Amino acid sequence: MHKILIEDIESEPNKILHYSFDDCIEELNCKISAELDLQALGDFIEVKGHAVGKINLTCDRCLSEYEYNLDIDIDETYAKTSLKDEYGQELELKNGQFVTDLDGEDEIDIYNLLYQSVILALPNKKVCGINCSEGMFVSDESMQVHDDRMDIFKTIKIERKD
Ligand SMILES: [Zn+2]
Repeated sequence: MHKILIEDIESEPNKILHYSFDDCIEELNCKISAELDLQALGDFIEVKGHAVGKINLTCDRCLSEYEYNLDIDIDETYAKTSLKDEYGQELELKNGQFVTDLDGEDEIDIYNLLYQSVILALPNKKVCGINCSEGMFVSDESMQVHDDRMDIFKTIKIERKD
């Protein structure tokens, strides 16, 4: 489900295939809508686009459930031929940009890409709102969404469902 054959991308007139995803990521109980362009670039497949969705999170402070809006830019590159002998599982192109090794697979798993993207987009600190009922003081610093420590997760190998 939601897997796209590389040959289908390559057989498009300009080698760009548009894909609309509108489905639930079951494991995260989260509804996602995404508009993606998959482009064949020789040995690489580039997937770019945008995803929005909603996910229920549990507040770290008051433990109540709240709805979190996801708004994610997708920019992922896959290598058709194996790179790992030379570069390891993932090759860093430039800052924060990694190439995922398809390791001979002939399709792109959009479901898994969006699953991984949602995981990376989740806030480090989950707070239901600035008026959280526990009423604890929330400093600007602890509300900060981005945390450099999260960046190391981007180097973790993407798990495939075989
Ligand atoms: Zn709360």
